[in-house]
Amino acid sequence: MAAYDKFLPEGLPAWQRPFWDSLREHDVRVQKCSGCGAFRHVPKELCNRCHSSEATWSPISGTGRVYTYTVVRRAPTPAYQAEAPYVLVHVEMAEGFRMIGSLTVDDPRTVRIGQDVRITYEDVDADWSILRFEPA
Ligand SMILES: [Zn+2]
Repeated sequence: MAAYDKFLPEGLPAWQRPFWDSLREHDVRVQKCSGCGAFRHVPKELCNRCHSSEATWSPISGTGRVYTYTVVRRAPTPAYQAEAPYVLVHVEMAEGFRMIGSLTVDDPRTVRIGQDVRITYEDVDADWSILRFEPA
């Protein structure tokens, strides 16, 4: 596997690690508030609805719909530019919260708001996997 030269969440706080471990296992789990049941993504130390600090790491369906998207034509680094144009999607998950990721698609012009998508995983090096989406 070639060296991965894009951004990784190295240095993240230990309490966020379960999310990234779940990606590595290809079985995404998201913080779910023990106080009110709300999903918290990205992971947070306190619930923004009930202020509870307690949460579990809950499996999710992995499916959702494109809330909005952008086609990246001028990327932040040469490694990303090599893949441009590529699509970043903001997805309304079936559980009601939103996640962001790259959408694997041959032609960015085919992406539509409201399109059904599902999570996929990309193992980028020996330690990290990242979340992506593909058309469902
Ligand atoms: Zn809560």
